[in-house]
Amino acid sequence: MLEELNQIEQAALASLDTAQDEAALQRWKVAHLGRSSPLMLTFDKLGSLAKEERPAIGRRANQVKQALEAAFAAHSAALEQAAITRALGAERLDVTLPGRPVLLGRLHPTNCTLRRIYAIFAEMGFQVYRSREVETDEYNFQLLNFPPHHPAREMQDSYYIDSGTARGDNPLLLRTHTSPGQIHAMRQMVALNPQDPPPVRIILPGMCFRYEQITARSEMQFNQVEGLAVGKDITFGDLKGTLSDFARRLFGQQVRSRFRASHFPFTEPSAEMDIECFVCGGAGCPVCKRTGWLEILGCGMVHPIVLRNGGYDPLRYTGYAFGMGPERITMLLHRIEDIRYFWANDLRFLEQF
Ligand SMILES: [Zn+2]
Repeated sequence: MLEELNQIEQAALASLDTAQDEAALQRWKVAHLGRSSPLMLTFDKLGSLAKEERPAIGRRANQVKQALEAAFAAHSAALEQAAITRALGAERLDVTLPGRPVLLGRLHPTNCTLRRIYAIFAEMGFQVYRSREVETDEYNFQLLNFPPHHPAREMQDSYYIDSGTARGDNPLLLRTHTSPGQIHAMRQMVALNPQDPPPVRIILPGMCFRYEQITARSEMQFNQVEGLAVGKDITFGDLKGTLSDFARRLFGQQVRSRFRASHFPFTEPSAEMDIECFVCGGAGCPVCKRTGWLEILGCGMVHPIVLRNGGYDPLRYTGYAFGMGPERITMLLHRIEDIRYFWANDLRFLEQF
């Protein structure tokens, strides 16, 4: 019986070395320490042994059981340690590697230009004035001296809004320019002091919408920055001085500018302002279409009818207004050839700014 226990112990210890993973280890435990293992069956047999044999056999059986349990625990711990060592080797962490850079967003190129325009006019004392994008025909056209059926409306095909009610001559539309803000701003100032309204010096940035065929040169939505100065003794000289200085601050101190006569319903006289082509220096190139000049904005003295509609007496007040397209100016600054890039959301374009 004692000899049998020695063999059980040796066989169990020998097979333990072949268990190389957790599953094999559990199978070994069932085979050698489980309820029906040879060792446990020995305990069952103790009762049938002669009385004087029992203590020695029982003691030896307990020794073997303790030895197998200790060997199992030691082998189990060794396997676990080996697994940890293997994992550390396989997933080695190099703490000297530089961290992953955090991805930062950036400003849209139009916003970059808008911020430069705001900064320049802020230094000249102009405040930013924002107004609604959905307008009435009255504000978008009539008060700005575009009567119904006026041919100048042809230039600004519009998105009308079906408001569900008959509004007659005054339908709702998406504004075609930021100019209705001129009337809102003037009327707000007049409300402050109807007898002697304070002067106005504002720029009006915002999105405009026209029913245009989308091409490389025209979009159905675009930003505009309008400017308006109203007060006493404001002359065309003030207009030219302010806008020439603006052009120098935006395009460089050397840039020359010129004014060409033009027509807008809400200004009289009206002009368009060109700057000397900064690509060819005025010699003529494809960017300036060989003219040497680039058109950057439209402007003029505020029409007396518009001043009156805003609440300012045209006999006592004068003013000038101008309007420019930040996308067009961005195209000139960066020589972008297609306006559709601005709303295409193509990162290859946007990440260049
Ligand atoms: Zn040129």
